[in-house]
Amino acid sequence: MKSDLTIVGFGIIGAMIANTLSDYINDITIIYKYNDKKSASYHSFAWINAYDKPPHYYNKLNLDSMHLWHDLYKNNFVSDSEIKFGGDLRLYENSNKIDNLHKLINSENNHGIKFLEIHKAKNDENNLLLDNFNYAIESEYDGWVETDALINKIKKRLLTKRNIKFINAEVKNAISKDNNVKYLELDDRENTKISSEMFLFAAGFQTSKIASMLGIYLPQIISPGIVISSKPTNKVLNKYSSINLISENHIPHIHFRQNQDNQIICGIGSQDDSQFINPKEFTLNLHAELSKYVKQKIEYSGYKYGLRVMPKDGLPIIGLCENSNVYIVMTHSGVTLAPILAQVIKSEIVDKQLVSEIDFYRMKRFYK
Ligand SMILES: Cc1cc2nc3c(=O)[nH]c(=O)nc-3n(C[C@H](O)[C@H](O)[C@H](O)COP(=O)(O)OP(=O)(O)OC[C@H]3O[C@@H](n4cnc5c(N)ncnc54)[C@H](O)[C@@H]3O)c2cc1C
Repeated sequence: MKSDLTIVGFGIIGAMIANTLSDYINDITIIYKYNDKKSASYHSFAWINAYDKPPHYYNKLNLDSMHLWHDLYKNNFVSDSEIKFGGDLRLYENSNKIDNLHKLINSENNHGIKFLEIHKAKNDENNLLLDNFNYAIESEYDGWVETDALINKIKKRLLTKRNIKFINAEVKNAISKDNNVKYLELDDRENTKISSEMFLFAAGFQTSKIASMLGIYLPQIISPGIVISSKPTNKVLNKYSSINLISENHIPHIHFRQNQDNQIICGIGSQDDSQFINPKEFTLNLHAELSKYVKQKIEYSGYKYGLRVMPKDGLPIIGLCENSNVYIVMTHSGVTLAPILAQVIKSEIVDKQLVSEIDFYRMKRFYK
C-alpha cells in the first residue's frame, strides 16, 4: 500500500492537519487507534487560551491560533456543538499575584486580558459562591472545544473524500533506510506494511516512541493530568465559557467549565503528579473543592486521567527531520494550537515554504 502522505494519529492535531491537507494532497493514509482512551485529546480540559505562556513567541503562537478558532467558527467550520466562546474569568483571593498581573496586562503581547471590577464579575456569575475572591481578570477571546465531537465531525467529512483512507491499527515498527522511512508495520493480523512518500507523526505522547524506532530522540517529561465531570446540572455559568479560581486552599487553582451536555468539567491549574498518587481520592477532593463555589448541589460523575503530550522544554516539537521524509508534530496546548499548526504544516509540506515562526520549535534544538 503506497500513498503520498501517511499521517499517524487522529487526535485533535492529526485531525485538523488531515482536514487541511486533504484539500491539497492526492492520496493520504491516516493510521490511528480508534476510540483511543489514552489520547490527550480525549482527556483534555480543551481550553483555548493564550494566558501567560512564556516565552513571548510561544504566547503569540497560542494567541494567533485562538483567533483562528474564531475565524473557523465565523466560517462555519466549527459550530456550537463543537466549540464554545465566552471568555475566561479568573479570580484571585489574594493580592500577592497582582504585580505580575499588572506586568502581564501592560505587556505588548497582551491582547484581550484585562482587570475587571470584582463586583461586576460576581454579579455576572451569580450562580457561583465567590465571596472569598477579591480580584478579577477577564480574557475575552478564550473558549473551549468538544474535542471528541470535532474529531468525529472531521472524520465524517474526510470519509466523503476519495483521497483519504483510514486504517484502525497501531504502528508497531518503522523501517528506515538512509534517514527515510521505507514503511511502517502495523499490529493488525496481516502485519500490513504502509509505505508512503512522506510520513507525518502526530501520535501525541507516543510520537517519541515511534520516532525512537527511527533513532530520533524526542525527549518528553511525564505530565499526568486529571479532569473530573459532574452529572448534568442546571446552567451554572451565565457569561463566561470558563472560570479559573486561585485561592490559598489545599487545591490552590481549579478551573471549570460546563459542557454541551451541561456537565461541569473541572481540572487543576498545576501539572504536578501528586494527583496521580491516589487519583480516586484526589478527584473526590477536587469535586469537594469545586462544590464550594457552585450554589446548586452538583453530583460527581467520574474522571478521566492521562498523559499530556509534553516535550522536555515545554515547547512544541514541529518540523521535518533533517534529510528525511518524516515530519513531526507534538505539543502541549494542542487544542489551542491545532488550527495554526494545520496552517503551518500546509505551508511547509504542500507549498514547501519554511515558516520562520516555528524555527523555535524545530527538533534540532535537542541536538546542539
Ligand atoms: C488533562 C489535560 C488537560 C489539558 N488541557 C488543555 C487545555 O486546557 N488547552 C489546551 O490547548 N490543551 C490542553 N491539553 C493538551 C492537549 O489536550 C493536547 O496537547 C492535545 O490533545 C494533543 O493532541 P494530539 O492530537 O497531538 O495527541 P493525542 O490526542 O494524544 O492523539 C494521538 C493520536 O495518535 C494515535 N496513536 C498513538 N500511538 C499510535 C500508534 N503507535 N499507532 C497508531 N496510532 C497511534 C492515537 O490513537 C491518537 O489518535 C490538556 C491535556 C491533558 C491531558
